[in-house]
Amino acid sequence: MENDITDQIISCLIKDNLITDKQVQHAQKIKSKIVSSKRLIDILKDLKYVSEEQIKTALTHNKHTFKIGDLLVEFGYLTHEKLEAALKLQKTNKDQRLGDILIEQKFLAEDDFLDLLSIQLGFPHVEPDVQEIDKELISKASIKWYRHHNILPMYLQEGKPLIAFSDPFSKDSSIAAKKIFGSDFVTAVASQNVISSLLNKLEHGSKTNIIKEDSVQAIVDSIIQSAILEETSDIHFEPFKNKLTVRFRQDGILIHYKDYPLEIIPMLTSRLKIMSGANIAEKRLHQGGRISFDFNGTEYDLRASFYVSVFGEKIVLRILNNVSEIININKIGMQPKLMDRFLQDVLDTPSGVILVTGPTGSGKTTTVYSCINHIKKPEISIITAEEPVEYIMNDVIQCSINPNINLTYEETLRHVVRQDPDVIVIGEIRDSYSADVAVHAALTGHKVLTSFHTEDSIGGLIRLMNMDIEAFLVSSTVVCVLAQRLLRKVCDKCARPYNLTPTDLYRLEYKPPDVSAYQFVKGKGCSHCRYTGYKGRIAVFEMLILNEFVRDAILTQKSSYEIRKVSIETSGLLTLLEDAIHKASLGITTIEEIFRCVPKLLKPRSISEIKRLQGN
Ligand SMILES: [Zn+2]
Repeated sequence: MENDITDQIISCLIKDNLITDKQVQHAQKIKSKIVSSKRLIDILKDLKYVSEEQIKTALTHNKHTFKIGDLLVEFGYLTHEKLEAALKLQKTNKDQRLGDILIEQKFLAEDDFLDLLSIQLGFPHVEPDVQEIDKELISKASIKWYRHHNILPMYLQEGKPLIAFSDPFSKDSSIAAKKIFGSDFVTAVASQNVISSLLNKLEHGSKTNIIKEDSVQAIVDSIIQSAILEETSDIHFEPFKNKLTVRFRQDGILIHYKDYPLEIIPMLTSRLKIMSGANIAEKRLHQGGRISFDFNGTEYDLRASFYVSVFGEKIVLRILNNVSEIININKIGMQPKLMDRFLQDVLDTPSGVILVTGPTGSGKTTTVYSCINHIKKPEISIITAEEPVEYIMNDVIQCSINPNINLTYEETLRHVVRQDPDVIVIGEIRDSYSADVAVHAALTGHKVLTSFHTEDSIGGLIRLMNMDIEAFLVSSTVVCVLAQRLLRKVCDKCARPYNLTPTDLYRLEYKPPDVSAYQFVKGKGCSHCRYTGYKGRIAVFEMLILNEFVRDAILTQKSSYEIRKVSIETSGLLTLLEDAIHKASLGITTIEEIFRCVPKLLKPRSISEIKRLQGN
């Protein structure tokens, strides 16, 4: 008499078209005539109706039709009696897996169990090292969760996650794996011990494994290369209690790149210190350095900062010349009417100070380079003092400030004016001295382009006066203050219409009819935009051009509120908020982005009024 399991295997073989009913009947006939108790499956194999490989395939393919206990008996690893005893024990403790009981009761050696799974049934047997485990894959669920379900994702095999099971026949484990990784994964087996010890190592960070120095070099290089390819401005290496996290700043937002085990931190820190010329032995003080990194035939300039924190040094690398190209002045994002004024009344004036203001990462440098590119021509001399030079331009004399060797701003600016320039570019006004140089250079007929860290345009003027520059000097030399911010652009692959909420309206001080004529949008998130809903950035501007009324308000030391009012009324000033609202109403950016990046100092005018002033 055949047992249930044989019937099950045979019906799987028939179902998968590996054997026919006729062949089975023939084998049964033979079995009834022979004396020895040969298994029907073996007879089918002897008759060459089916191969060992085909049986394995049918078994793994239909694994949920089988009970692991029956298979163990069928393949001779276990007696019926022991299986019955184990099943009885399982009834008293439903949470315990049959495999665990069999091993615990010494009815079965764990190796035999793995043997059945890998040799007889053909599941790949894996025993990986903790370093081989794909950290991104494992991060999809918690270690606790993997322990509970007794599975461990290992790495991608031909694009599919390979998942190790201690018991691939367990329904609970299979359902759990499907829930996290979808149904398209490779099933592998690993011993219970291997899975739990790997999970422990992942949880606590493995102390035992030794990372080789050259692999750390390769890791560092590949991080920097990925950062360059993904248009990253800054790379953050952040040491935490149980891991090192690497994040990239892209489009102004930090995006998680990868996590690394704790043991990598000392070697990675040393490697970056060597690369940047910092002191390896010094671990208690903050440090800085520079890295010159060759990639794809381009030499990238990276500024490194080491900041001592409780779990080690946090390292930030700023990629300086990741400016892919100088943006044509007409493409910096100014609306047509504003652009005309900027060219005619600001850049084309013979002398005076042009200030670009905004916080770090607001795109000031890009705008300054676009301006230089527009101004430069063979008959004039342009000289720069930058900290540091972020983009090399033809026909412009650029100097990179380097305080480490006493090439300071002060020292450089003293020499700049003796170089007989027409245009002076001062990277940033950071103290009274550089402010004084800028203003006096403008007084003596130079055009001065510089940047400043202030919230808005009026703030730039006020701050200049707070740097001991006389109001009359400010009012007579400054031509324009251009405040700016960078806002993320909506991803055009997943943009959807967005209706302003009552909160949005309240914050903007608009009523529903004020916005009903405009279609705002928001990105849903897709693979093109890494599920952020944004792709690329656009600048928004607030341009203050000093006319006689504004100059008069400065001379008579009016408050910033009054100067702002005069500017709006007489010089056609549009605020950062108004320019941003206009761009959102055109579907370029979102309301959310405006609230995140743009200060609100005054109630914005209506969108139709803004459009009229902007010229479209
Ligand atoms: Zn998208």
